[in-house]
Amino acid sequence: MNLVIFGPPGAGKGTQSKFISSKYDLHQLSTGELLRKEITDKTELGSQISSIINAGELVSDHIVSNLIEKFISKEVYKNRLIFDGYPRNLNQAKNLDNLLNKYNQKIDVVLKLSVNLETIKKRISERQNQENRADDNEKIAVKRYKNYERSISPVIEYYRQSNLLKVINGEASITEINGEISGLIETIKGWL
Ligand code: AMP
Repeated sequence: MNLVIFGPPGAGKGTQSKFISSKYDLHQLSTGELLRKEITDKTELGSQISSIINAGELVSDHIVSNLIEKFISKEVYKNRLIFDGYPRNLNQAKNLDNLLNKYNQKIDVVLKLSVNLETIKKRISERQNQENRADDNEKIAVKRYKNYERSISPVIEYYRQSNLLKVINGEASITEINGEISGLIETIKGWL
């Protein structure tokens, strides 16, 4: 099974991805982590992308596509990938379908962790120790949330139309979310 997971910063996407990958023996493919590793490993690609990443901009679709193809093409990862951080735009979503198709695979389910802005703010402020920094961080968190929702909405719509999208209530407890996701995955495994 190949799975795509989405969620705004603070939605618990990392926690859930780790849970799913260990429970179902899947491989979490985080494009952000892969790109950062290129920088720490001081590869040629790393030197090309470091200024882009540091500026918070998106790396070119072509570069990220090449990176993920290295995983999709390997037998060991066949039907075992969790895409985390990819796709980020509609072009990437279509490219992912084409790449998977090239290696006789497909996306089985797309999970969107849905969390409202008030909860994100609450989670962020709970993490704050210094009162004088709380406002600033909250402002940044709100900005990131809004940017995220805006940029990802065409991608979400794309998956909604292909009937792959499952919206998970990210307001629930970690254990409840684990349970909901497991239920979904097990239904899908039964179809295969
Ligand atoms: P993340 O850890 O997912 O927040 O990603 C960190 C940074 O890596 C982003 O700000 C982008 O610069 C880059 N990045 C990660 N995933 C992608 C992607 N799918 N397309 C383009 N750039 C990406």
